[in-house]
Amino acid sequence: MPPIDLSAITTDQLFLPQFAEKKVSVSVLRLDKIHPLVSGNKWFKLQYYLKEAKEKGQQRIVTFGGAWSNHIIAAAAACRLQQLPCTGIIRGERPAELSLVLREASTLGMEIEFISREDFATQQLPAHLNREENCIVPAGGYGPTGARGAAEMLDHAVNSKAFTHICCAVGTGTMLAGLQNRAAAHQQVIGISILKNNFQLEKETAALLTSPEKLPVILHDHHFGGYAKYQPALLQFMNEWYRQTGIATDFVYTGKLCYAVNNLIVSGYFPEGSNLLLIHSGGLTGNRSLKNGLLIF
Ligand SMILES: *Cc1c(COP(=O)(O)O)cnc(C)c1O
Repeated sequence: MPPIDLSAITTDQLFLPQFAEKKVSVSVLRLDKIHPLVSGNKWFKLQYYLKEAKEKGQQRIVTFGGAWSNHIIAAAAACRLQQLPCTGIIRGERPAELSLVLREASTLGMEIEFISREDFATQQLPAHLNREENCIVPAGGYGPTGARGAAEMLDHAVNSKAFTHICCAVGTGTMLAGLQNRAAAHQQVIGISILKNNFQLEKETAALLTSPEKLPVILHDHHFGGYAKYQPALLQFMNEWYRQTGIATDFVYTGKLCYAVNNLIVSGYFPEGSNLLLIHSGGLTGNRSLKNGLLIF
């Protein structure tokens, strides 16, 4: 497996006619390029959990996720790279056949355990894992430690202070909070929630902010039916976006982000002269759960 390569990150400006027409500039921060499995924001969110575990001499990373979660595959690969044993605690019952993500995570050395949905909801640790030698990473890397790592994403953008708006997809809100914490006062951070009616998000994001006076904007109307749900229009858009920009997106997060921002631009949401930075937070492995042939990339 290749190492994580932060030098691969680029800031790509896109030149699409609808952006020129609205006099809006759009660039994409390509965090998807750092690694095939520990892609995008997952590495940034995990980095300080792993560092602190090592410093404390903890022996094992234990984390939570769903059977198709990007976080689980990223955690498995990151632990493999750092030679840290790890356990993934997965929501629900063990299915007859493990998902692609779980099979790959277990090939990478992650031990997989299943817990009930109720225990998962409160992130209840199985008793045998509830030990000081274990470093517990909440689902999605949610927490101040995750947000601290996510803030560093902006340090990799070329001329980052020139952007007026920073836009990202939102699951737990950890990345959004990290970006808000690192953004300059003149920059508006906008999160596109990919979950349906997740109105906990405002509170959960606010809990991770270092200066709670300035809140990011969270938009809730761009989820296409909910987590990992989609409609043909989303896949069509992702194919068209790829044709025009050469940038592949995933249908769970970054596809919804680009679709939403593109629509917001076209509808005049951003004032003339706006200079947008879209965070490509990776996650392309998620497309493997789609039927073959739906995407052209
Ligand atoms: C996990 C993930 C997110 C969501 O990040 P949060 O910090 O949980 O909000 C966004 N984009 C991609 C590609 C992801 O894999």
